[in-house]
Amino acid sequence: MGIIKLLFGFLFLIFAVAFTYYNLHMTEVKFYNFSLKLPMFIFFFLSVGIGFSIPTAYFLLREKALKKREEKILQLLNFFWRDYLGKAFDLLRKFLLIEEFMPFYIRTKKEFGESLDVQLDLYNKGIAETALAELTFRKDLDEARILLENALGKNQKNQRARKMLRSIYMVLEDYDKAEELQRQILKEIEKERKVEEQRVLASILAEKYSRENEEVILKELWSLPVSKTSGALLSSMVNGGEVFEAAFNLGILPEVIKIMEERNLLQPELLNLIENNYRSAVPDYVLYYVYLKLNMKEKLKELNVTLPELKLVKDKSPELLELVDIWECEECGKEYNKYTSVCRNCLGVNTLKIKRVEEYDNRPL
Ligand SMILES: [Zn+2]
Repeated sequence: MGIIKLLFGFLFLIFAVAFTYYNLHMTEVKFYNFSLKLPMFIFFFLSVGIGFSIPTAYFLLREKALKKREEKILQLLNFFWRDYLGKAFDLLRKFLLIEEFMPFYIRTKKEFGESLDVQLDLYNKGIAETALAELTFRKDLDEARILLENALGKNQKNQRARKMLRSIYMVLEDYDKAEELQRQILKEIEKERKVEEQRVLASILAEKYSRENEEVILKELWSLPVSKTSGALLSSMVNGGEVFEAAFNLGILPEVIKIMEERNLLQPELLNLIENNYRSAVPDYVLYYVYLKLNMKEKLKELNVTLPELKLVKDKSPELLELVDIWECEECGKEYNKYTSVCRNCLGVNTLKIKRVEEYDNRPL
């Protein structure tokens, strides 16, 4: 073997000398305005050398990094197996630099019942914390609120975080903070979505008014586009008319009427107004519900007796109350037995709609 190697080395040397001899002439190397005269053989060896060494170095480094990551993962699993939870989470936190580890981290933390006190090292902390908050939301409103407040502290323009936080404030009935956030959202939103967000503001203000009774709020509500909640409130304040008209045009009149009833805002005069002018726009089952709640037995008899609800109601049993259970979120499909302006499942605002009566046909008695 030694002789073969020696022979190869010798041949290579002869080749190199011959190559150098035949390539002694100069060649010009140009790069923009810069030019350099080099012997041809030096130029050749340089380009081959650089051409090889760069990819080789790259692959070597990459392999090393992969090995390191692999070691970390093994170490991490070992910690988990041995129940060194604290250490494992510390290590896991380092992995958050690799974004794919986020959901894993969150899930594991949740599974072990640990709180999500994360000091994220990610480049975009705001977005990361929004994601965390979204996952936290269903189980712990307060934790989600804190994460989102942090996210907004770091990135004021994180619209997604703002909207989530606004909805959380609404659920927590902190309408002042919800209002403040919604006004910020409105300031920066594109034109096409403006009306929708103004309706959200109207819902917040309507909730706030039912608590604080301030005339200023009512004044502003009038200038905003009608939402289901604000529609119900305004109708009760101004004897319906104009607001019913707006709600009718928006196709949310049945919802407005039901909310009015649920919040005890429906007066006999308003009921007359509905019956005389909007009877055709309000489905029987909504009226049925209203009469039922107002205990208007005579009116109930006037309604179409073939209504599926009537099949449900045997005599005046408590099952009657089942009828109330018909709000459904248009976004996520969650059902509620009472109107709420925020869906607690998907955080959508004004997304609750009255569930269509046909869907009750197949309900078991
Ligand atoms: Zn929903």
